[in-house]
Amino acid sequence: MKKKLALFGGDKAVGSEQGDMFTWPIVTPRHEQAVLGVLRGGRMSGLEITRDFEKKYARMLGRKYALAYHNGTAAVLGGLYALGIGAGDEVIAPSRTYWASAAPVYTLGATVVFADVDPETICIAPGDIEHRITPRTKAIVVVHYAGMPADMDALMEIAARHKVKILEDCSHAHGALYKGKEVGTFGEAAAFSLMTGKSLAVGEAGILFTDDREIYERALLFGHYARHDEITLEELKPFAGLPSGGFKHRMHQVSSAFGLVQLDLYPQQMAEIDSAMNHFCDLLEGIAGIRAMRPAKGANTTKGGWYYPHFKYVAEELGGLSLMRFAEAIRAEGSICNPGCNKPLHCHPLFTKLDVYGHGRPTRIAHLGASAKIERYVERLPVAEGINGCVFEVPWFKHRRPAIIEEHAAAYRKVVENHQALLAGDTGADAEIGGYSSFFKARKDTR
Ligand SMILES: *Cc1c(COP(=O)(O)O)cnc(C)c1O
Repeated sequence: MKKKLALFGGDKAVGSEQGDMFTWPIVTPRHEQAVLGVLRGGRMSGLEITRDFEKKYARMLGRKYALAYHNGTAAVLGGLYALGIGAGDEVIAPSRTYWASAAPVYTLGATVVFADVDPETICIAPGDIEHRITPRTKAIVVVHYAGMPADMDALMEIAARHKVKILEDCSHAHGALYKGKEVGTFGEAAAFSLMTGKSLAVGEAGILFTDDREIYERALLFGHYARHDEITLEELKPFAGLPSGGFKHRMHQVSSAFGLVQLDLYPQQMAEIDSAMNHFCDLLEGIAGIRAMRPAKGANTTKGGWYYPHFKYVAEELGGLSLMRFAEAIRAEGSICNPGCNKPLHCHPLFTKLDVYGHGRPTRIAHLGASAKIERYVERLPVAEGINGCVFEVPWFKHRRPAIIEEHAAAYRKVVENHQALLAGDTGADAEIGGYSSFFKARKDTR
C-alpha cells in the first residue's frame, strides 16, 4: 500500500531521534586528554608529537616516509613540488574533485590539464588521459573520489608507459583498498587531507607519503625549514636553512596529538561505517532509479570510511522525474539527499580566465611560450559536465544502527514508489546543482 509522501503532508519516514548518528569526528576522553597534554606541556609548535604521528601513520599504511602538514592543500602543493613540478610543466587532474587537487599547480608555475571522469566512479577516466599527455606532462593527480578507489591498474600502466609520475590525492578515501592494496601506496607520492570533515579527521591537517628519499627531502626543503637537519642529499644541502619558495607547512601539535588517538580508533570506526553504509545500500539494491556507488563485491576493493557517499540517479526509470524534485521529496521525509557533487573545475574562470599573479595573461598558460593560447586549454569534458544531474549524496552513517538506517532506506523507497505523484509538480528546474566545496553545505544538512 502506498503511503502519502511527507512533501504532501504524510508522515515522515525518518521519525526517530538521530542522536550522534552523523557527528564527526567522535571525540572521546582520550582525545581530550591528548590535546590537554599538548596545551599544558607548552608544546603547541613542537615537532615530537607530529613525528610520532607520522611514524605511526607510515607504519599503518606501509610507506617509508611521512611528512605532516597543516592542511591537505599544502600536502598536495608540497607533494607536487617534491615530484619536481615547476614552471611550464603540465599536470593532468580530474575535473571533478575538490579544487585543492588541482589549483596548487599554479603556485609552482605549472599548467593544469583536466581529464574527464568515469561515470561509474567519478574518478579520473584512464581512457581520457593519454591524448592529453605532451612532452610537458610531468604528473597525473589521481583522486579516489568520494571513497571510490580509482582504476589503479590502468592508471599505473599509463604512467609507466609515458614516464609520468602519479600523485595520489587520498583525501576522500583513507583506508580504502584497491584489489587488496591500500590507496596511498600506488603513486610516487600520496597526499591526504585530515581536516574535520574527512573520514580520518584530526581537525586541520594533511600528510604526504612516499618511499623515495629524494621526494621526501624536497618536500622538507620546500615547507619544513625547522627539519632541514634531516636533509642528507648533497644537491639539496646547500639550500637548507631557509624554505625554498618561502613556505611553512608545519602541522599543529594539537592536531598531531588528536591524530595519534584517531589512528588507534579509525580502523574500528571504518569497519562500522563500512558495515552501516553497506546495509543502507543493500536495503536499496534493485530499486528503480537509484544505484549505490560502491565497489563490486568480491574484488577486495573497499571505500574505507565512505567519505561523501553518492548514489547514481537514473531519471528515465522514474518517468523523467528531476533530481531536484526527487531530492526535495527525500528531504521532506527527514532523510538526506544532496543532488550532484563538486562542480566541474575546468569550467571555472580560475582555469579559463583569471590572471592570478599579474602575468598579463591567464595563469593557466602564464609559463608557456608566448604563442600559447588559453583556448587550447579549455576542455570539453562531457561526463564531468553532465554528472551533477546523475548523482546525489546520501546519508553518511557513522554507526551501525539498523533501525535508523532502515528508516532512511524507507524514505528513499517511499519516494521511488510514489514518484508518479511527484511528476505533476515537477518543474524540471535544474537549479544550481553541486558546489565547489561540499563540506560546509553538507555539515548543515547532517546536523
Ligand atoms: C579536502 C581536500 C583537499 C584539501 O585538504 P584541506 O585539508 O582541506 O586543505 C585536497 N583534495 C581533496 C580531494 C579534498 O577533498
